[in-house]
Amino acid sequence: MALAHTLGFPRIGRDRELKQALEAYWQGQLDETGLRAVGRSLRSAHWQMQQDAGIELLPVGDFAWYDQVLAHSLLVGAVPRRFRPADGRVGLDTLFAMARGAGQGCAGAQALEMTKWFDTNYHYLVPEFAADQRFRLSWEQLFEEVAEARELGYRVKPVLIGPLTYLWLGKARDGAFDRLELLERLLPIYGEILGRLAALGVEWVQIDEPILVLDLPQAWKSAFERAYHLLQQAPLKKLLATYFGALDDNLGLAANLPVDGLHIDLVRAPQQLAGVLDRLPPYKVLSLGVVNGRNVWRCDLEQALQPLRLAAERFGERLWVAPSCSLLHSPMELAREDRLDEELKGWLAFAVEKCREVALLAKAVEAPESAEVHAALADSRTAQDARRHSPRIHNLAVQARLRGIGENDWRRPTAFVERIGRQRAQLELPPFPTTTIGSFPQTAQIRQARQAYRRGTLDEAGYRAAMQAQIRRAIEVQERLGLDVLVHGEAERNDMVEYFAEQLEGYAFTRFGWVQSYGSRCVKPALVVGDIQRPRPMTVEWIRYAQSLTARPMKGMLTGPVTMLMWSFPREDLPREEQALQLALAIRDEVQDLEAAGIRIVQIDEAAFREGLPLRQAERGHYLDWAVQAFRLCSAGVRDETQIHTHMCYSEFNDLLAAIAALDADVISIEASRSQMDLLEAFEDFAYPGEIGPGVYDIHSPRVPGREEMLALLRQAAERIPPERLWVNPDCGLKTRGWTEAEAALANMVAAARAMRASR
Ligand code: GLN
Ligand code: ZN
Repeated sequence: MALAHTLGFPRIGRDRELKQALEAYWQGQLDETGLRAVGRSLRSAHWQMQQDAGIELLPVGDFAWYDQVLAHSLLVGAVPRRFRPADGRVGLDTLFAMARGAGQGCAGAQALEMTKWFDTNYHYLVPEFAADQRFRLSWEQLFEEVAEARELGYRVKPVLIGPLTYLWLGKARDGAFDRLELLERLLPIYGEILGRLAALGVEWVQIDEPILVLDLPQAWKSAFERAYHLLQQAPLKKLLATYFGALDDNLGLAANLPVDGLHIDLVRAPQQLAGVLDRLPPYKVLSLGVVNGRNVWRCDLEQALQPLRLAAERFGERLWVAPSCSLLHSPMELAREDRLDEELKGWLAFAVEKCREVALLAKAVEAPESAEVHAALADSRTAQDARRHSPRIHNLAVQARLRGIGENDWRRPTAFVERIGRQRAQLELPPFPTTTIGSFPQTAQIRQARQAYRRGTLDEAGYRAAMQAQIRRAIEVQERLGLDVLVHGEAERNDMVEYFAEQLEGYAFTRFGWVQSYGSRCVKPALVVGDIQRPRPMTVEWIRYAQSLTARPMKGMLTGPVTMLMWSFPREDLPREEQALQLALAIRDEVQDLEAAGIRIVQIDEAAFREGLPLRQAERGHYLDWAVQAFRLCSAGVRDETQIHTHMCYSEFNDLLAAIAALDADVISIEASRSQMDLLEAFEDFAYPGEIGPGVYDIHSPRVPGREEMLALLRQAAERIPPERLWVNPDCGLKTRGWTEAEAALANMVAAARAMRASR
């Protein structure tokens, strides 16, 4: 009998109960007992939901108060000195201090760094290791949860982050040593953990080693063998879990480690099945991830069944069926969606429904002739056919337009060196022009107006008036401060992707499709359902209004195609690149409409450009090709005089410069203040041709930087980039700041730019 299991389940709760409880606890409105009670009730509800759906082996340890990597740091006692309580006992408050920082000023402890979990939109807290790092079992939560599950009568499989993945995800403090050196110190703790779990009566443990789908240095590969030989003695069975890609060159390694089973992701990497069937010893368990744990679409059961049948021949009852990865990355329960139309609903599956799919597939391997299996397969086929033929996903005009794209549509008619002269002549900007990235403070007033409009208590005219008042205010402030290129402030935008998605045909939205992003933060990505088309201009009225209030150039503000796609749930029936090009065509029309409305500068934000980079080096070239193409398609249709800006808010551009240059934007603004302009070295070395606005202050903090501080950064920038190509701007948009601090910081920024001009 093929066993149905899951690698992890969403922890946030159907109604985001965990979010509410965490936030109440942080505000002192809920005590620790209350918070723990919420955790317990969520865990038992989630186990029950999975079991009801037919999952036979349930995950435990996938619950976390903030993040599973952070929980693991507590488990193994990797608590940096600044967070260690005087009595040495780490508790919930230690955990939250590590996640969110503690105290203020010099006595305060800065939170751990946060970064993306592989290529998902989930963020984990980066373990921080000291050179004299010691590990020690320090957190009982996992064992308590196992006991809790067993008391409730569930059959569970604890989930652990593997030792190598854990070290890989962490960083050595001050980069002072190689974190792989810590392995020998870490392994005994794993031995202890496994021993404790075995003593609790656990039969199987899942050890996640997703780094096995990355290009690993040889030292790390060799360390796998060492580590798992040492863990071999533990008296329980180990399932090594990999996901988010193919094992490829690590296949032999993964297949032969002394563990009892291997999980592979066949959604992301279906091609790896043959190799795995070939090389995995048949006495091991093979777990196949055939239901996509990262998207919202219903599984094509017949298609998913094929590899299972193939594997069953060889592995028999040692074949397990699972989602591709933890269901953490998919929304909770489709049945909750009360406003989705039936047609679309019939195409979707969230975590609970995915569990049912897994269970059904396990059954289908076992009893292909059963009536239930027959019915489910027929139903799946009907749903797939219906979607495939639905007019809702096909827009022939869009498809024809895509086919008709020619060489010239990708390319601006004139080279940068030539067109920049025309732009400068007509914009008449001073040297070191000042600007901002787009958004101004999203005040309570703005949010209230937007909500009232959505609820229908504010009519359209009232809403428009409220937003126009915000635009007027933003422009007044910018003129008073003396900024050179103005923005309208984005008051009307809830979110830089959703705002556009809502105005495009081909997108759909859920009401409860929340996915944890980090801590108590969740996102509700829009769904790309069908071919994308822009029925009418999306931003032109606002920008035109803003421009009518000022003689200074107003920057039109758009979100780029790659970011639109990366922060949505994409289609699975069309390659990502085609979806990006469709989005690009829609944005292209908007760019041209802005130009026709007299807007001379258009900024196309690509905050997620770097995020889209595939995990494997070998796949990056292809990604960058289409990502660049999509950007060029949306931006290249304008006159020489129209200036195209782009914005990317991060400071790692290694390996990316050729692609960034290929975007052929006239101006790029980037995050630079926290890296002390160091990243400009890469731009300099590459001889990047365009204009650059390296952010001169960090917008993540309420601190108001002084004029001298920004001036020093600008001087550093001017050593690397020819001064005539430098812009002056903050690191990113100001929507999370208050007006007082935003104004004060911008006033100092303008003063710094003026000092630069004066010193030339
Ligand atoms: N224009 C957007 C803003 O200013 C850009 C946001 C981003 O890059 N994340 O808010
Ligand atoms: Zn940004």
